[in-house]
Amino acid sequence: MKALDYSGMHAPRYMGISTFMRTPFVSDVAGLDIVLVGVPYDGGVENRGGQRHGPREMRNASTMLRTIHHVTRFNPYENCRIADIGDVPIKAVYDIRGAHADITAFFKKVHASGAVPLSAGGDHSISLPILRAIASDEPVGMIHIDAHTDTCDEELGERYTHGTPFRRAVEEGLLDPERTIQIGIRGAQNSTEGWDYSIESGMRVIFIEEFVEMGVDRVVTEARRVAGDGPVYLSFDIDGLDPAFAPGTGTPEIGGLTPIEAQRLVRGLQGLKFVGADVVEVSPPFDPSGNTALLGATMMYEILCILAYSVSRADGRS
Ligand code: MN
Ligand code: MN
Repeated sequence: MKALDYSGMHAPRYMGISTFMRTPFVSDVAGLDIVLVGVPYDGGVENRGGQRHGPREMRNASTMLRTIHHVTRFNPYENCRIADIGDVPIKAVYDIRGAHADITAFFKKVHASGAVPLSAGGDHSISLPILRAIASDEPVGMIHIDAHTDTCDEELGERYTHGTPFRRAVEEGLLDPERTIQIGIRGAQNSTEGWDYSIESGMRVIFIEEFVEMGVDRVVTEARRVAGDGPVYLSFDIDGLDPAFAPGTGTPEIGGLTPIEAQRLVRGLQGLKFVGADVVEVSPPFDPSGNTALLGATMMYEILCILAYSVSRADGRS
């Protein structure tokens, strides 16, 4: 397959309209293997918002990124047709159910085209409408990196928030809890119901203390065991990282993953059958340094490499 025109990489990186990873902006998903999508929505947040500004700042930060991975030497752009297809046009910005319907409608078109989506949020509520689009045929497993399980039943009487998406996803038959692992969980809660639901539904929950005890390599082994051979989604909440590195997020919890731990964790997942991924909860207004957006964009690149490996291996390209 012919690679897309990737001439953006040959121009100075400060020049031109910023797209994710300086990929071409394409409005028609036909013929693409992997699509990079912004989901600028933060109506699911109870406390500190600003995640609606995540996609634009991550696009800008992502112009720092290059092509060949320094460990694997894999170049996703040589192996797959990858483009930025813009932001989900969210019309119902004041209505979470309507906004989620807008997101699902967009990702249904992506899914129908056969492309694998890598999305930039947005708050974590966006993962549910994405899963409604791409996991409606069969439930998916999930690798979930986060300080929080996001499996509460409701917040302040609302069932659709950034603290509830994966409980809804299990209830709706989109997520197989037995093939789901949550990594990096920590921080006090006012109720244990989220932790309890995750464990009782069959998810493997690795609190940060167990993560530190096990080390990255054994966590990778465990994640691969849980996810198995079936389709799997990767959801990366930037608050899984320690706020010393990623302060620009709504619900910071100290004692989190370091960037190199998160990078090694994602790299270790290469070869799983990924059907999509997201990086969520980057809130640029809480980090004027811009480093949180750079971390988000860099984790997108790490994830893009393993998605591209999955796609190219599936059709025998690599
Ligand atoms: Mn989350
Ligand atoms: Mn979180």
